[in-house]
Amino acid sequence: MQTAIGEIQTLFVDVLLPVPIPKYFRYRVPSDMVEMVQKGVRVMVEFGRRRILTGIIVESSEFPPSSYQAKYLLDILEETPSVNDKQLKFWKWMADYYLCHEGDVLQAALPSGLKLNSQSRIQVNPDFDEEDLADLSDKAVRLFRAVRHQQSIPYEQSADILEVKSPYPYIKEMIQAEAIIIYEEVKEKYKPKKVSKVRLNPTLLENASGLEEVFTSLAKKPKQEDILLKYLGLVPVYNDPNVNDAGVDKKKLLEEGKEMSPSSLKTLVKNGILEEFSEVVSRFDDAHFQLYQNMGHDFELSEAQQNAYSQILESFKTKDATVLHGVTGSGKTEIYIKLIQDVIEGGGQALFLLPEIALSTQMVVRLMKVFGDQLGVYHSRYSDNERVEVWRGVNEGRFSVIVGVRSSIFLPFEDLSLIIVDEEHETSYKQHEPAPRYHARDMALVLGRMHQAKVILGSATPSVESYYLAQKGQFGLVSLTERFGNATLPEIIIADLKKERKQKKLKGDFSSRLVDEVRSAIDKEEQVILFQNRRGYSPFVMCEECSWTPTCPSCAVSLTYHIYKNDLRCHYCGYREATPKTCVSCGSTKIKTVGTGTQKIEEEIQNFVPAARVQRMDQDTTRKKYGYQQIIEDFEQGHIDILVGTQMVSKGLDFDNVTLVGICNMDQMMFFPDFRAMERAFQMAVQVSGRAGRKSKEGKVVIQTYNADHPLLKKIIKQYYEGFFRVELKERHQYSYPPFTRLIKVTVKSEDQLLGEKAALQLAKGLTRRLGIKRVLGPQAPTINKIRNKYLQEVMLKFERQNFDLLKAKGILKEEIFIIETEPFFKKVQIVIDVDPL
Ligand code: ADP
Ligand code: ZN
Ligand code: ZN
Repeated sequence: MQTAIGEIQTLFVDVLLPVPIPKYFRYRVPSDMVEMVQKGVRVMVEFGRRRILTGIIVESSEFPPSSYQAKYLLDILEETPSVNDKQLKFWKWMADYYLCHEGDVLQAALPSGLKLNSQSRIQVNPDFDEEDLADLSDKAVRLFRAVRHQQSIPYEQSADILEVKSPYPYIKEMIQAEAIIIYEEVKEKYKPKKVSKVRLNPTLLENASGLEEVFTSLAKKPKQEDILLKYLGLVPVYNDPNVNDAGVDKKKLLEEGKEMSPSSLKTLVKNGILEEFSEVVSRFDDAHFQLYQNMGHDFELSEAQQNAYSQILESFKTKDATVLHGVTGSGKTEIYIKLIQDVIEGGGQALFLLPEIALSTQMVVRLMKVFGDQLGVYHSRYSDNERVEVWRGVNEGRFSVIVGVRSSIFLPFEDLSLIIVDEEHETSYKQHEPAPRYHARDMALVLGRMHQAKVILGSATPSVESYYLAQKGQFGLVSLTERFGNATLPEIIIADLKKERKQKKLKGDFSSRLVDEVRSAIDKEEQVILFQNRRGYSPFVMCEECSWTPTCPSCAVSLTYHIYKNDLRCHYCGYREATPKTCVSCGSTKIKTVGTGTQKIEEEIQNFVPAARVQRMDQDTTRKKYGYQQIIEDFEQGHIDILVGTQMVSKGLDFDNVTLVGICNMDQMMFFPDFRAMERAFQMAVQVSGRAGRKSKEGKVVIQTYNADHPLLKKIIKQYYEGFFRVELKERHQYSYPPFTRLIKVTVKSEDQLLGEKAALQLAKGLTRRLGIKRVLGPQAPTINKIRNKYLQEVMLKFERQNFDLLKAKGILKEEIFIIETEPFFKKVQIVIDVDPL
């Protein structure tokens, strides 16, 4: 696209912007920027009135847009593109597949640190006369003085200064009096990390006696001498003038070893012996990251692993993707590591995807030990700045391996050779909100194809979809059936709650069996994990007299009781209120809690085993950046005996001393109203069980249920994936569910319930007419039919996998939705499309 630039008089560019509008926007390039135009560079543009956005150049043209007056680009933000061709192609593919806009994908893909931040700021008008202040109100004067004092302030800050909710009236007053100027400030969000360093004044080294003279002058200043000596200890220029004096971190010079005096350092700088400067450093250079770097890795693959490894290489010859089905603890990770090492040796790049939670701890440490600073970590809890550094690191080819969460599929890879999707069955690979509602595993397959990279889908409990494709031969299939080393799979015990209830042996939510097992594990100083798939204390409270239950004012759900703040919370919108002391409906004071969450399990088990140190791990206890990591570390180091948690405890953790896992409520998982409930229950149970007895000690798993005879439990006891899969596949076939069909869920949202219902009905009718009655289900209100004050209606589309033109169907869907969206009557209705919903 740079070809004819020299001759072109006026140049236009098409810019992809992070907005949900299905087109590129054409801008005019100012003549002094023409040379800098390149596909993939970030630009700053004005969009609409006064909105400043960051976009990506995707195309250039000699022609102005036909239907609007092109604005000038405000700026080209970089010389080397942040985004490459493969990414643009991939994003376009995603937008088409998920029926969203490329702008949605860009918005999700680009870390916000690479987007501009624009902010309204206030500055005083220098021409404004002090005398004119008399005409302003007291508050306006106060604001004026504060702004003048600070030169300029962000608009929002004016409310704080005035201690009012809205500063608008005072600001308006000042604008009218021409006392202040409001302007838009645009800044790069990314801030490089800088450290203060000092180095020897280079002139001192120019002649041989320079340093000696300095030491003579410091003869009576021992503190300064100390600092200088320490410096020369760290950077031995004195012995060898060829040593490059890159300076020393000021903190390091002052902190380590013998106490050094900061004021003496200042004096050394003042006297020109040392000089101060600042240097941009990587955020990943700090101690936290260096701890584990390059610690070496001397594992030899076991025979079984070696076998699996060879089979994978064999499968790579004919298949793009291979399912690695290995029981928990079979050593899949070591195989991944070997495969990645191969890739690095061949000069390629590898991407290692992990579900959200598994990422923050053990796995990353394991990988860091092997790959050192060749490894980049892309985590959702990283700051904007850190994400930018990973992005740039990939762009500049600094990292050969990226381990990351689902959004790492968006990174600027040039040439991927291998993508590993670990725990490929995990639902956290799917993004639910906002668009693009993508599944990172599925997109990894697409990305792999674009790069001609091989893809590994690893799991102890593969998704029905992936395993089905492997069985059909579309993917390769490699299995590891035994745990590594001497570890055996845990013994699984079913605690029959029905029977224990009859025998009056139940204690709250606990069977006597589970309590006994916990006690005996604690007696042996072993550790326990208890799994309860619900946070809070109780999913609801209820009046004993009249059954009144507090519900969320904006959602159609009951409020969850949280014991520590003694309040009720909505897990859908975050609403909170104090727990009522009396019933709103009948005035009774008998309010009881119903059902069980992690907090209640925590409380109960503490009562049964008072000596044990119990810790809870759920969304409520792991909000802080390293919150999750801290709990894992404490558990690993034996500061915790019993870990109670939600699904967070089921994922990829590897502890030597855990011998018992309790699944407190298996029924809750099995009888969830969703066609995937059995699959989820099986996966969850096997994964949680996988945390027990991973090394030499034997593990036990206690599953509590009122349905001890359920066939699924028999499969779980034997960890019999094949058996589970066969039964499940039969059911899916019988009811035409995936993998035999593809689903698209269309949700119609509206604050006006009736209007939403009408829109959904009209949509379903239109679709039925064009796609046939068998392919359109609904409209129907979902189980939770109101969230955040919007009523929901769903229309489900079901397409047979073969002999059906999905592309055409998607086109029809788009058209039908367009009809509703452009109908003024339905202006207040919102339509959300979810392709392959989970
Ligand atoms: P998976 O990912 O299949 O659940 P892991 O890779 O975590 O299994 O392996 C289970 C345990 O066995 C880990 O503690 C791991 O360090 C150890 N392990 C696996 N393979 C080897 C090997 N070849 N040599 C030494 N230890 C191994
Ligand atoms: Zn009541
Ligand atoms: Zn709510």
